[in-house]
Amino acid sequence: MALINDFLSLIYPRHCQACGMLLFRHETMICKLCELSLPKSNYHLNDNNPLNRMLGGRVPLQKTLCLYLFEKSGKVQRLVHAIKYHKHKELAVFLGERLGNEIRATELPLEFDVIVPIPLHPKKLAERGFNQSEEFAKGLSKVMGVAMDNKSLQRAKISSTQTHKRKYQRWENVEGIFELPAPANFENKHVLLLDDVVTTGATIDSAWQCFKHLEGVKVSLACIAFTKPGNFN
Ligand SMILES: [Zn+2]
Repeated sequence: MALINDFLSLIYPRHCQACGMLLFRHETMICKLCELSLPKSNYHLNDNNPLNRMLGGRVPLQKTLCLYLFEKSGKVQRLVHAIKYHKHKELAVFLGERLGNEIRATELPLEFDVIVPIPLHPKKLAERGFNQSEEFAKGLSKVMGVAMDNKSLQRAKISSTQTHKRKYQRWENVEGIFELPAPANFENKHVLLLDDVVTTGATIDSAWQCFKHLEGVKVSLACIAFTKPGNFN
């Protein structure tokens, strides 16, 4: 066990993932100072929030849960980069737990039946080795006690001619990106969709297309961060 821990500390030395400072023994992933200064969205406390307003009309979400507001070159960007480019998947789980604890602390009457992470493009999945939305979902699932389903929502398999065509379509064309082979499983369920960073909302809109015709289904969204389009890279 000690050997494993030593090995892990070589890969992830005990530095704050948001500011780079060394962590104290009692701190994990993020130092106390960053914890206090990271820009929380608190969207779950205010339904009239920028994310809901942006998606409004397109995707009738029950609730939006968003951990942080993304700022270019800010600490949240650093966290997202640590997950995506330094493959720090435990950080994604940690942020899922963090959001779960935020929600639980408010005692909002939120009851979700299932957590569904947005599937990653197979090419990206092969590159990175994991889906960051799924890792984030694991943390949230653990704290909120809601099961995660990472199998049902799938990327639609498309032919190369369709890929070529899609290149020239505007991003508003959101149909056919995902598929839900067994939709009846989600009838009368409250689904919490999980994404990492939401920008235009096109991905959420695409996923919504798979659920919108289902009897009695409700959809909510949770994400690590929200940013205005053009701000994220
Ligand atoms: Zn820090």
